[in-house]
Amino acid sequence: MGNGTLTINLAALAENWSALDRHSAASVETGAVVKANGYGLGSARAAKTLAQAGARRFFVATAEEGAAVRGALGSGPEICVFGGHMRGDTEMIHDLQLVPMLNSIAQITRHAESLPGHPCGIQLDSGMNRLGLEAAEWSAIAEIALQLSPQLIMSHLACADEPDHPANAAQLAQFKSMTDGLSIPRSLSATGGILLGPEFHFDLTRPGIGLYGGLPFVDAKRVVGLSLPVIQIRDVAAGESVGYGYSWPAKAPSRIATLSGGYADGILRAISAGAQLYDGDIPCPLAGRVSMDLLTVDVTHLPEAPDSLDLLCDHQTMDALADCAGTIGYEILTSLGPRYTRRFVETP
Ligand SMILES: *Cc1c(COP(=O)(O)O)cnc(C)c1O
Repeated sequence: MGNGTLTINLAALAENWSALDRHSAASVETGAVVKANGYGLGSARAAKTLAQAGARRFFVATAEEGAAVRGALGSGPEICVFGGHMRGDTEMIHDLQLVPMLNSIAQITRHAESLPGHPCGIQLDSGMNRLGLEAAEWSAIAEIALQLSPQLIMSHLACADEPDHPANAAQLAQFKSMTDGLSIPRSLSATGGILLGPEFHFDLTRPGIGLYGGLPFVDAKRVVGLSLPVIQIRDVAAGESVGYGYSWPAKAPSRIATLSGGYADGILRAISAGAQLYDGDIPCPLAGRVSMDLLTVDVTHLPEAPDSLDLLCDHQTMDALADCAGTIGYEILTSLGPRYTRRFVETP
C-alpha cells in the first residue's frame, strides 16, 4: 500500500466527549464541533460516534459542511452553523434543517425575511471581534431578534487556552451583561472554556479539539495515529547528502529510509528540524527536508529494516509535532490530507 494510514480511534473520541461532558454539571448540555470535516478525521464517522456517545447538538462552520453531517446523522440531532445564514444558503438551511447562528443585523434580516419561523441562534461578540453582534448593535436590535425565538445565544472566547489571561474574565462579564435576564439557552465555551470552570459553562458547551485528543484538554485520550510506509532503504556514505538543498550531509555511514508522505499530506515542511518517526518505541530522526510526497529518515540504528514508521503515536502527539513546526495541534489535524487511508477503529 503506497499511502500512509491514519488510524482513528472512535472509542477514544467517544470517551473524550464523555470526559468533557463530565466536566460540566448534568444540567449543562455538551455539544460537539465537527467542522472542517471533523477536524480532518471525517465528519460523518465522527458525528455518528459522538451521537452514540450522547451528543445531540453539532456545530459546523458552513452550511455545506452541515449537509455532510446531516447525511450521516439523519433527522433529529440539531446541526448549527457558525457562519450563520449566508446569501445563497437559504434552501440548504431549510431542506437540511440546519440552525444558522446569525451573526450580524444583515443575517438576522435575511433569516427573518427568507425563512420566518425556521430555527436559528444568535452570535454575540464579547471581545474577540471575529463574529457576532457587538453590544451596541445587540441592544439596538435585541427586541426584534428575540422575536425569532432563537434556540441559543452564543459567544466565543479568544484566550481560553490561557487560563490566567484577563480576557477570559472580561469576555465572561461582557457576555453576561449582554444576556443576563433573557430566558434563552446560552453558550460561551469551547474546549478551553470548559476547563476554565463552571461559571463559563452556561447551558451548553461546544468542545472541538479536546474530542479529537488535542490540547488544552491534557487528559484527552489519543484519537489519531499516523503510520507511513517505507518505500526504499539505502546506504549513504559519510559526506553524501540527503534530500532537497543537500541539507542533511551524512556525518557517518548511514541508512536512510524513504517514506510515503509529505507536505502535500499535511506533514508540514516546517517539521524538518526536530520531528522524529518511531519504529515502535525507537525514535528515528528526519534526515533532510520534507518534500511533497516523501520523507527521508535516519534508520541507521534500527536492528531491522522497518516496513513502516509512525509519525503520530503515543511517543509523538499532534501537539508535540505541532511544536516542531511552531504551530498548534489544530493545524496538524486539519491539514491531514485526503491521500491517507483512514482506518476507523471502534474498540478501546
Ligand atoms: C472551532 C470552534 C469551537 C470549538 O473549539 P475548540 O477549541 O476546538 O474546542 C467552538 N466554538 C466556535 C465558535 C468555534 O469556532
